[in-house]
Amino acid sequence: MSAELKVASQVMSLYPEAQWLFDQLREGSVDTKRGGVTRDTYGSGEQFAHDLVAKYAAALGLEVRHDHMRNTYMVLPGLDRSAPALVIGSHLDSVAAGGNYDGAAGVVAGLIAIEALQEAGLQPQCDIVVMGVRAEESIWFQVSYIGSRGALGSLQESALQAKRIDTGRTLAEHLLAAGGDPDAVTQGQAYLTPQNVRAFMEVHIEQAPSLAIEGHAIAIGSGVPGNFRYPKIKITGEYGHVGLGRRYRHDAALAGADIALGLDKIWAEWEQAGRLMACTIGEFQTNAARHGLTIVPGEFGLSLDVRAYDTADLAELKTKFLELVAEVSATRRVKIDLGPQASAGVAPADPTITAQLRACALELGLTVPDLPSPASHDSAAFYAAGIPFGFLFIRNPNGSHHPDEEMSIDDFLLATTVLTQWLVTHCCKN
Ligand SMILES: [Zn+2]
Repeated sequence: MSAELKVASQVMSLYPEAQWLFDQLREGSVDTKRGGVTRDTYGSGEQFAHDLVAKYAAALGLEVRHDHMRNTYMVLPGLDRSAPALVIGSHLDSVAAGGNYDGAAGVVAGLIAIEALQEAGLQPQCDIVVMGVRAEESIWFQVSYIGSRGALGSLQESALQAKRIDTGRTLAEHLLAAGGDPDAVTQGQAYLTPQNVRAFMEVHIEQAPSLAIEGHAIAIGSGVPGNFRYPKIKITGEYGHVGLGRRYRHDAALAGADIALGLDKIWAEWEQAGRLMACTIGEFQTNAARHGLTIVPGEFGLSLDVRAYDTADLAELKTKFLELVAEVSATRRVKIDLGPQASAGVAPADPTITAQLRACALELGLTVPDLPSPASHDSAAFYAAGIPFGFLFIRNPNGSHHPDEEMSIDDFLLATTVLTQWLVTHCCKN
């Protein structure tokens, strides 16, 4: 049997182990009230997942460590312990009532890949580290990449004062309760650096149905989009009586609608032209304390997330958005306060690693398409810190961030086989 086929069969034989890990993850974090799973960031659900994988890794004989963010590191020692390590990972938290695989698949993939290497009797050149990342889901603290940025020393100090939406406690308080060290964040301590990490490899389910529709089990992720975000846009017009004529109105809700439709029109034009972008208005509301059937809305709130894969595209979209805001403000005679702004840079996957992953897939008889990620991932934080990354997607027909998210173990093992093949070819040989 060729080395490639041997590794492939080694991974495939670990079907029961992978199934067991996903079952355990689901059982331990099932959300009986809302459905799906809830692995709350720096809460009991996330902690459960970290404890579970750490125990599994210890049973495999891996070294288990934590950093000041309480990220979990599970280490297969390499021949040269001082060489930069290869880190495989993703996040172990989920949104409330989320799916079992978003994030967790990347950690389980790392553990199964290592188990396959162990069974094949292969020792890597450098340490291979499986990282269970904390706090990737920004819904909890409204801050992106808390765990990975914290490990990389690039988490802004102000994030420590962000409050978790449900508990009202700060990130600093939650971090301390989990055994972490907020002072290390203040000092900008980096546990992972371009000097001690060679590359980051992330396996993740797709969050859109494109692979399922096109009939591909897996894809190679070509990059993570950059974004600009306005979490709290506030439009102020004037409350008025239902009898007020159109020309006298300062309708804040219609101004919000104009912004939403204006952005959607831009997106439709870009889509027509084959240009990649996305915009999402996740919050969109009048003031419930004052709105009513016969009242012209004087206040309106919305959030905005705009993303693209190219830095110039992102800049162009920002300009177009600001022009739209000025136009709506003038025509609707309302004040538009954009509020705080956040942004993240575009993060392309490393072209060398991407080519190597494609070659590994081909050796296994797989033609794997490239797929730009529609969503944000920890890989982008590594890229921003100067560490290259490779990315593999797994088919998921039902989207993510809700209980219907779906992934077959066969598809998962296919992605893990490509990853393991890459480890054998590029980490276990001279
Ligand atoms: Zn995720």
